[in-house]
Amino acid sequence: MIAKRLRKSLDAAICIRDIFEEGKKMAAVYGSENIFNFTIGNPSVEPPAVVNESMIEILKEENSLSLHGYPANVGYPQVRAHIANYLNETFGCSYDEDGIIMTVGAASAIAMIANTLLDQGDEVVTFAPYFWEYKSYVESFYGKLVPAYCNMETLQPDPETFEAALTPRTRFVLINTPNNPTGAVYTDASIRAVTDILKKKQEEFGHPIYLVSDEPYRKLAYDIEVPYLTHYYPNTIVVYSYSKALSIPGERIGYIAMEPCVQDMRDLYAGLTASMRYLGIVNAPTLQQKMLLKCVDASVDISIYKKTRDILYDGLREIGYTCIHPDGAFYLFVKALEDDDAVFCEAAKQEKILMAPGTAFYGPGWVRISYCVPDEVASRSLPAFRRLYERYQGRSEDN
Ligand code: PLP
Repeated sequence: MIAKRLRKSLDAAICIRDIFEEGKKMAAVYGSENIFNFTIGNPSVEPPAVVNESMIEILKEENSLSLHGYPANVGYPQVRAHIANYLNETFGCSYDEDGIIMTVGAASAIAMIANTLLDQGDEVVTFAPYFWEYKSYVESFYGKLVPAYCNMETLQPDPETFEAALTPRTRFVLINTPNNPTGAVYTDASIRAVTDILKKKQEEFGHPIYLVSDEPYRKLAYDIEVPYLTHYYPNTIVVYSYSKALSIPGERIGYIAMEPCVQDMRDLYAGLTASMRYLGIVNAPTLQQKMLLKCVDASVDISIYKKTRDILYDGLREIGYTCIHPDGAFYLFVKALEDDDAVFCEAAKQEKILMAPGTAFYGPGWVRISYCVPDEVASRSLPAFRRLYERYQGRSEDN
Protein backbone atom coordinates (compact mmCIF):
# COMPACT_ATOMS: atom_id res chain seq x y z
CA MET A 1 0.00 0.00 0.00
CA ILE A 2 1.49 3.35 -0.97
CA ALA A 3 1.13 6.61 1.00
CA LYS A 4 -2.30 8.27 0.69
CA ARG A 5 -0.58 11.58 -0.15
CA LEU A 6 1.15 10.00 -3.15
CA ARG A 7 -1.94 8.03 -4.21
CA LYS A 8 -3.88 11.30 -4.43
CA SER A 9 -1.31 12.92 -6.67
CA LEU A 10 -0.97 9.81 -8.87
CA ASP A 11 -4.72 9.71 -9.40
CA ALA A 12 -4.79 13.40 -10.34
CA ALA A 13 -1.88 13.21 -12.79
CA ILE A 14 -2.59 13.60 -16.48
CA CYS A 15 0.15 11.38 -17.76
CA ILE A 16 1.76 12.76 -20.89
CA ARG A 17 4.08 9.78 -20.98
CA ASP A 18 0.99 7.51 -21.26
CA ILE A 19 -0.07 9.40 -24.39
CA PHE A 20 3.48 9.09 -25.72
CA GLU A 21 3.43 5.31 -25.09
CA GLU A 22 0.05 5.08 -26.81
CA GLY A 23 1.68 6.79 -29.79
CA LYS A 24 4.35 4.08 -29.87
CA LYS A 25 1.63 1.40 -29.91
CA MET A 26 -0.17 3.23 -32.72
CA ALA A 27 3.14 3.38 -34.62
CA ALA A 28 3.46 -0.42 -34.37
CA VAL A 29 -0.02 -0.81 -35.91
CA TYR A 30 -0.06 1.97 -38.54
CA GLY A 31 3.68 2.43 -39.19
CA SER A 32 5.78 5.06 -37.45
CA GLU A 33 5.79 7.27 -40.56
CA ASN A 34 2.01 7.66 -40.20
CA ILE A 35 1.96 8.77 -36.56
CA PHE A 36 2.61 12.37 -35.52
CA ASN A 37 3.73 12.11 -31.94
CA PHE A 38 4.17 15.60 -30.47
CA THR A 39 3.80 14.60 -26.83
CA ILE A 40 7.08 14.67 -24.91
CA GLY A 41 10.09 16.96 -24.85
CA ASN A 42 12.86 14.50 -25.61
CA PRO A 43 15.54 16.30 -27.67
CA SER A 44 15.69 15.24 -31.32
CA VAL A 45 18.89 17.03 -32.41
CA GLU A 46 22.21 15.16 -32.08
CA PRO A 47 24.44 16.22 -29.16
CA PRO A 48 27.49 18.20 -30.34
CA ALA A 49 30.47 15.93 -31.08
CA VAL A 50 32.46 17.42 -28.18
CA VAL A 51 30.17 15.62 -25.69
CA ASN A 52 31.20 12.09 -26.65
CA GLU A 53 34.76 13.11 -27.49
CA SER A 54 35.38 14.65 -24.10
CA MET A 55 33.82 11.72 -22.24
CA ILE A 56 36.05 9.28 -24.11
CA GLU A 57 39.11 11.42 -23.43
CA ILE A 58 38.33 11.62 -19.72
CA LEU A 59 37.79 7.87 -19.47
CA LYS A 60 41.13 7.25 -21.17
CA GLU A 61 43.09 9.83 -19.23
CA GLU A 62 41.74 9.89 -15.70
CA ASN A 63 42.59 7.59 -12.84
CA SER A 64 39.51 5.33 -12.55
CA LEU A 65 39.38 5.23 -8.79
CA SER A 66 39.35 8.99 -8.42
CA LEU A 67 37.00 9.56 -11.38
CA HIS A 68 34.44 7.07 -10.11
CA GLY A 69 34.77 7.94 -6.41
CA TYR A 70 32.61 10.28 -4.34
CA PRO A 71 33.35 13.95 -5.10
CA ALA A 72 32.34 16.74 -2.66
CA ASN A 73 28.53 16.87 -2.50
CA VAL A 74 28.53 20.24 -4.27
CA GLY A 75 30.81 19.00 -7.07
CA TYR A 76 34.44 19.34 -8.17
CA PRO A 77 35.95 22.76 -7.30
CA GLN A 78 37.62 23.15 -10.72
CA VAL A 79 34.31 22.46 -12.50
CA ARG A 80 32.46 24.97 -10.29
CA ALA A 81 35.17 27.58 -10.88
CA HIS A 82 35.02 26.94 -14.63
CA ILE A 83 31.25 27.48 -14.67
CA ALA A 84 31.54 30.63 -12.52
CA ASN A 85 34.13 32.06 -14.96
CA TYR A 86 32.01 31.18 -17.95
CA LEU A 87 28.94 32.91 -16.45
CA ASN A 88 30.95 35.98 -15.47
CA GLU A 89 32.42 36.33 -18.95
CA THR A 90 29.16 35.66 -20.76
CA PHE A 91 26.69 37.60 -18.64
CA GLY A 92 28.92 40.04 -16.73
CA CYS A 93 28.11 38.52 -13.33
CA SER A 94 30.17 38.05 -10.16
CA TYR A 95 29.92 34.36 -9.37
CA ASP A 96 32.67 32.42 -7.65
CA GLU A 97 33.04 28.67 -7.23
CA ASP A 98 31.48 28.86 -3.75
CA GLY A 99 28.23 30.01 -5.30
CA ILE A 100 27.90 27.03 -7.67
CA ILE A 101 26.47 23.61 -6.81
CA MET A 102 26.54 20.84 -9.39
CA THR A 103 23.17 19.05 -9.61
CA VAL A 104 21.45 16.10 -11.21
CA GLY A 105 19.75 18.23 -13.88
CA ALA A 106 17.27 21.01 -13.15
CA ALA A 107 14.79 18.64 -11.54
CA SER A 108 16.97 17.80 -8.54
CA ALA A 109 17.99 21.45 -8.23
CA ILE A 110 14.38 22.62 -7.85
CA ALA A 111 13.62 19.84 -5.36
CA MET A 112 16.70 20.85 -3.33
CA ILE A 113 15.62 24.49 -3.36
CA ALA A 114 12.09 23.56 -2.24
CA ASN A 115 13.51 21.41 0.57
CA THR A 116 15.80 24.25 1.64
CA LEU A 117 13.28 27.09 1.60
CA LEU A 118 9.86 25.69 2.46
CA ASP A 119 8.19 25.13 5.78
CA GLN A 120 4.76 23.52 5.82
CA GLY A 121 2.19 25.75 4.12
CA ASP A 122 4.74 28.14 2.57
CA GLU A 123 3.92 29.29 -0.92
CA VAL A 124 5.70 29.28 -4.26
CA VAL A 125 4.32 31.43 -7.06
CA THR A 126 4.83 30.40 -10.66
CA PHE A 127 3.60 31.77 -13.96
CA ALA A 128 0.91 29.64 -15.56
CA PRO A 129 0.87 27.75 -17.88
CA TYR A 130 3.78 25.97 -16.21
CA PHE A 131 5.86 22.78 -16.36
CA TRP A 132 3.61 20.15 -14.73
CA GLU A 133 6.32 18.74 -12.40
CA TYR A 134 6.53 22.05 -10.49
CA LYS A 135 3.50 21.10 -8.44
CA SER A 136 5.08 17.82 -7.30
CA TYR A 137 8.42 19.48 -6.51
CA VAL A 138 6.65 21.98 -4.24
CA GLU A 139 4.00 19.73 -2.69
CA SER A 140 6.53 16.99 -1.87
CA PHE A 141 8.00 19.48 0.60
CA TYR A 142 4.60 20.47 2.01
CA GLY A 143 4.50 23.77 0.15
CA LYS A 144 1.67 25.21 -1.93
CA LEU A 145 2.14 26.10 -5.60
CA VAL A 146 0.24 29.29 -6.45
CA PRO A 147 -0.26 29.87 -10.20
CA ALA A 148 -0.23 33.42 -11.59
CA TYR A 149 -1.76 33.31 -15.04
CA CYS A 150 0.09 34.89 -17.93
CA ASN A 151 -1.78 37.14 -20.31
CA MET A 152 -3.13 34.47 -22.68
CA GLU A 153 -2.99 36.83 -25.67
CA THR A 154 0.78 37.26 -25.33
CA LEU A 155 1.81 34.41 -22.99
CA GLN A 156 3.82 36.99 -21.02
CA PRO A 157 3.50 37.39 -17.22
CA ASP A 158 0.60 39.59 -16.19
CA PRO A 159 1.88 42.03 -13.52
CA GLU A 160 -1.47 42.53 -11.78
CA THR A 161 -2.23 38.82 -11.47
CA PHE A 162 1.32 38.24 -10.28
CA GLU A 163 1.17 40.90 -7.59
CA ALA A 164 -2.14 39.53 -6.32
CA ALA A 165 -0.61 36.03 -6.00
CA LEU A 166 2.15 37.15 -3.61
CA THR A 167 1.47 36.85 0.12
CA PRO A 168 3.59 36.98 3.28
CA ARG A 169 3.91 33.17 2.90
CA THR A 170 5.60 33.44 -0.52
CA ARG A 171 9.14 32.09 -0.16
CA PHE A 172 10.11 31.98 -3.79
CA VAL A 173 8.90 32.64 -7.31
CA LEU A 174 9.65 30.04 -9.94
CA ILE A 175 10.12 31.46 -13.41
CA ASN A 176 10.90 29.56 -16.60
CA THR A 177 11.99 31.35 -19.77
CA PRO A 178 12.17 30.15 -22.54
CA ASN A 179 9.04 28.46 -21.32
CA ASN A 180 7.72 24.95 -21.23
CA PRO A 181 4.89 24.55 -22.30
CA THR A 182 4.38 27.79 -24.28
CA GLY A 183 7.73 28.44 -25.97
CA ALA A 184 7.45 32.09 -24.85
CA VAL A 185 10.58 34.06 -24.02
CA TYR A 186 9.69 36.63 -21.35
CA THR A 187 10.66 40.11 -22.53
CA ASP A 188 12.83 42.69 -20.80
CA ALA A 189 9.65 44.68 -20.00
CA SER A 190 7.96 41.61 -18.45
CA ILE A 191 10.98 40.77 -16.32
CA ARG A 192 11.32 44.37 -15.23
CA ALA A 193 7.65 44.52 -14.20
CA VAL A 194 7.92 41.22 -12.27
CA THR A 195 11.12 42.15 -10.45
CA ASP A 196 9.89 45.68 -9.59
CA ILE A 197 6.89 44.06 -7.89
CA LEU A 198 9.16 41.59 -6.10
CA LYS A 199 11.39 44.36 -4.76
CA LYS A 200 8.33 46.20 -3.43
CA LYS A 201 6.85 43.07 -1.84
CA GLN A 202 10.12 42.03 -0.19
CA GLU A 203 10.18 45.44 1.42
CA GLU A 204 6.55 45.21 2.48
CA PHE A 205 6.80 41.66 3.92
CA GLY A 206 10.21 42.24 5.51
CA HIS A 207 11.81 39.03 4.28
CA PRO A 208 13.49 37.85 1.08
CA ILE A 209 11.42 36.45 -1.76
CA TYR A 210 13.85 34.53 -3.96
CA LEU A 211 13.45 34.41 -7.71
CA VAL A 212 14.33 30.92 -8.92
CA SER A 213 15.10 31.04 -12.62
CA ASP A 214 14.67 27.58 -14.15
CA GLU A 215 16.67 27.76 -17.40
CA PRO A 216 16.97 24.42 -19.18
CA TYR A 217 15.99 26.09 -22.47
CA ARG A 218 18.25 29.19 -22.25
CA LYS A 219 20.30 28.07 -25.30
CA LEU A 220 17.19 27.28 -27.32
CA ALA A 221 16.17 30.83 -28.25
CA TYR A 222 15.66 31.84 -31.86
CA ASP A 223 16.98 35.27 -32.87
CA ILE A 224 16.13 36.74 -29.49
CA GLU A 225 18.05 37.54 -26.35
CA VAL A 226 16.92 35.85 -23.14
CA PRO A 227 17.31 38.35 -20.27
CA TYR A 228 19.69 37.23 -17.52
CA LEU A 229 17.69 37.67 -14.35
CA THR A 230 20.42 38.50 -11.84
CA HIS A 231 20.75 41.88 -13.60
CA TYR A 232 17.20 42.72 -12.59
CA TYR A 233 16.96 41.22 -9.13
CA PRO A 234 19.84 40.40 -6.77
CA ASN A 235 17.96 37.65 -4.90
CA THR A 236 18.01 35.41 -7.98
CA ILE A 237 18.93 31.74 -7.82
CA VAL A 238 19.72 30.38 -11.29
CA VAL A 239 18.97 26.74 -12.08
CA TYR A 240 20.64 25.50 -15.25
CA SER A 241 20.59 22.15 -17.00
CA TYR A 242 22.49 20.70 -19.95
CA SER A 243 19.62 18.32 -20.79
CA LYS A 244 18.35 20.36 -23.71
CA ALA A 245 21.34 22.56 -24.58
CA LEU A 246 23.47 19.47 -25.24
CA SER A 247 20.65 16.92 -25.89
CA ILE A 248 21.78 14.81 -22.94
CA PRO A 249 18.75 14.54 -20.59
CA GLY A 250 19.73 11.00 -19.67
CA GLU A 251 23.13 12.13 -18.40
CA ARG A 252 21.55 14.22 -15.61
CA ILE A 253 23.80 17.22 -15.20
CA GLY A 254 23.13 20.85 -14.28
CA TYR A 255 23.89 23.39 -11.58
CA ILE A 256 22.56 26.00 -9.16
CA ALA A 257 24.28 29.41 -9.31
CA MET A 258 24.08 32.14 -6.67
CA GLU A 259 25.99 35.42 -6.64
CA PRO A 260 27.42 36.62 -3.29
CA CYS A 261 24.71 39.34 -3.17
CA VAL A 262 21.93 36.76 -2.68
CA GLN A 263 20.52 37.32 0.80
CA ASP A 264 21.59 34.68 3.36
CA MET A 265 23.64 33.08 0.60
CA ARG A 266 25.96 31.05 2.89
CA ASP A 267 22.96 29.64 4.79
CA LEU A 268 21.29 28.79 1.52
CA TYR A 269 24.43 27.08 0.26
CA ALA A 270 24.67 25.01 3.43
CA GLY A 271 20.95 24.17 3.24
CA LEU A 272 21.19 23.12 -0.40
CA THR A 273 24.23 20.96 0.27
CA ALA A 274 22.48 19.24 3.16
CA SER A 275 19.32 18.83 1.02
CA MET A 276 21.39 17.08 -1.62
CA ARG A 277 22.28 14.43 0.95
CA TYR A 278 18.92 14.27 2.73
CA LEU A 279 17.07 13.75 -0.54
CA GLY A 280 19.40 10.93 -1.50
CA ILE A 281 20.88 12.78 -4.48
CA VAL A 282 24.39 12.84 -2.88
CA ASN A 283 26.24 14.39 -5.84
CA ALA A 284 26.01 15.05 -9.56
CA PRO A 285 27.58 12.34 -11.76
CA THR A 286 31.36 12.67 -11.88
CA LEU A 287 32.10 11.92 -15.55
CA GLN A 288 29.45 14.41 -16.65
CA GLN A 289 30.84 17.11 -14.34
CA LYS A 290 34.33 16.69 -15.80
CA MET A 291 32.92 16.71 -19.32
CA LEU A 292 31.77 20.29 -18.71
CA LEU A 293 35.38 21.43 -18.49
CA LYS A 294 35.41 20.90 -22.27
CA CYS A 295 31.85 21.84 -23.25
CA VAL A 296 30.50 24.42 -20.85
CA ASP A 297 29.46 26.63 -23.77
CA ALA A 298 28.65 23.99 -26.39
CA SER A 299 25.19 23.77 -27.87
CA VAL A 300 23.17 21.64 -30.22
CA ASP A 301 22.48 23.10 -33.66
CA ILE A 302 19.39 25.12 -32.81
CA SER A 303 18.72 26.04 -36.46
CA ILE A 304 17.23 22.54 -36.79
CA TYR A 305 14.60 23.22 -34.13
CA LYS A 306 13.96 26.64 -35.59
CA LYS A 307 13.25 25.17 -39.02
CA THR A 308 10.71 22.74 -37.54
CA ARG A 309 9.16 25.53 -35.49
CA ASP A 310 8.66 27.62 -38.62
CA ILE A 311 7.10 24.77 -40.58
CA LEU A 312 4.55 24.10 -37.84
CA TYR A 313 3.85 27.66 -36.76
CA ASP A 314 3.40 28.96 -40.32
CA GLY A 315 1.52 25.84 -41.42
CA LEU A 316 -0.92 25.82 -38.50
CA ARG A 317 -1.63 29.55 -38.75
CA GLU A 318 -2.26 29.19 -42.45
CA ILE A 319 -4.82 26.46 -41.77
CA GLY A 320 -6.59 28.70 -39.22
CA TYR A 321 -5.28 27.58 -35.82
CA THR A 322 -4.56 30.17 -33.13
CA CYS A 323 -1.07 30.01 -31.70
CA ILE A 324 1.32 32.61 -30.30
CA HIS A 325 4.72 32.84 -31.98
CA PRO A 326 7.14 30.85 -29.79
CA ASP A 327 10.63 32.33 -29.61
CA GLY A 328 12.30 29.55 -27.69
CA ALA A 329 12.37 25.97 -26.34
CA PHE A 330 10.75 23.39 -28.64
CA TYR A 331 7.10 23.88 -27.79
CA LEU A 332 4.17 25.45 -29.54
CA PHE A 333 1.04 26.28 -27.53
CA VAL A 334 -2.05 26.05 -29.70
CA LYS A 335 -5.67 26.91 -28.90
CA ALA A 336 -7.81 23.78 -28.88
CA LEU A 337 -10.75 23.83 -31.27
CA GLU A 338 -13.15 23.14 -28.41
CA ASP A 339 -13.25 24.10 -24.74
CA ASP A 340 -12.21 20.69 -23.44
CA ASP A 341 -8.57 20.26 -24.47
CA ALA A 342 -8.54 16.57 -23.46
CA VAL A 343 -11.48 15.84 -25.78
CA PHE A 344 -9.73 17.80 -28.53
CA CYS A 345 -6.58 15.69 -28.05
CA GLU A 346 -8.71 12.54 -28.34
CA ALA A 347 -10.24 13.85 -31.59
CA ALA A 348 -6.74 14.59 -32.92
CA LYS A 349 -5.78 10.95 -32.39
CA GLN A 350 -8.23 10.01 -35.14
CA GLU A 351 -5.89 11.88 -37.47
CA LYS A 352 -2.93 10.09 -35.80
CA ILE A 353 -1.82 13.33 -34.13
CA LEU A 354 -0.74 13.06 -30.49
CA MET A 355 -0.44 16.21 -28.37
CA ALA A 356 -0.43 17.03 -24.66
CA PRO A 357 -3.58 18.65 -23.23
CA GLY A 358 -2.97 22.15 -21.85
CA THR A 359 -4.82 21.28 -18.63
CA ALA A 360 -1.75 19.24 -17.66
CA PHE A 361 0.15 22.56 -17.59
CA TYR A 362 -2.56 24.66 -15.98
CA GLY A 363 -3.46 25.97 -19.44
CA PRO A 364 -6.98 24.61 -20.10
CA GLY A 365 -8.39 25.12 -23.57
CA TRP A 366 -4.94 24.84 -25.16
CA VAL A 367 -2.66 22.02 -26.27
CA ARG A 368 1.11 21.69 -26.29
CA ILE A 369 2.90 20.54 -29.41
CA SER A 370 6.42 19.38 -28.64
CA TYR A 371 8.20 19.86 -31.96
CA CYS A 372 11.35 17.91 -31.25
CA VAL A 373 10.64 15.76 -34.28
CA PRO A 374 12.34 15.65 -37.70
CA ASP A 375 11.17 18.53 -39.91
CA GLU A 376 9.81 16.13 -42.53
CA VAL A 377 7.46 14.70 -39.85
CA ALA A 378 6.30 18.24 -39.09
CA SER A 379 5.66 18.87 -42.82
CA ARG A 380 3.81 15.59 -43.27
CA SER A 381 1.60 16.32 -40.23
CA LEU A 382 0.09 19.46 -41.76
CA PRO A 383 -2.51 17.70 -43.97
CA ALA A 384 -3.62 15.76 -40.86
CA PHE A 385 -3.95 19.05 -38.91
CA ARG A 386 -5.95 20.44 -41.82
CA ARG A 387 -8.37 17.47 -41.79
CA LEU A 388 -8.79 17.92 -38.02
CA TYR A 389 -9.53 21.61 -38.50
CA GLU A 390 -12.02 20.95 -41.29
CA ARG A 391 -13.76 18.33 -39.18
CA TYR A 392 -14.37 20.99 -36.53
CA GLN A 393 -15.50 23.52 -39.16
CA GLY A 394 -18.00 20.95 -40.46
CA ARG A 395 -19.23 20.44 -36.93
CA SER A 396 -19.88 24.14 -36.34
CA GLU A 397 -21.59 24.48 -39.74
CA ASP A 398 -23.93 21.53 -38.82
CA ASN A 399 -25.00 23.35 -35.61
N1 PLP B 1 12.20 22.51 -15.91
C1 PLP B 1 11.55 22.52 -17.08
C2 PLP B 1 10.80 23.73 -17.47
C3 PLP B 1 11.59 21.39 -17.93
O1 PLP B 1 10.93 21.41 -19.09
C4 PLP B 1 12.33 20.26 -17.52
C5 PLP B 1 12.36 19.05 -18.36
O2 PLP B 1 11.75 18.92 -19.36
C6 PLP B 1 12.99 20.31 -16.29
C7 PLP B 1 12.91 21.45 -15.51
C8 PLP B 1 13.81 19.16 -15.81
O3 PLP B 1 14.95 19.08 -16.57
P1 PLP B 1 16.23 18.17 -16.21
O4 PLP B 1 16.31 17.12 -17.25
O5 PLP B 1 17.36 19.11 -16.28
O6 PLP B 1 16.03 17.65 -14.84
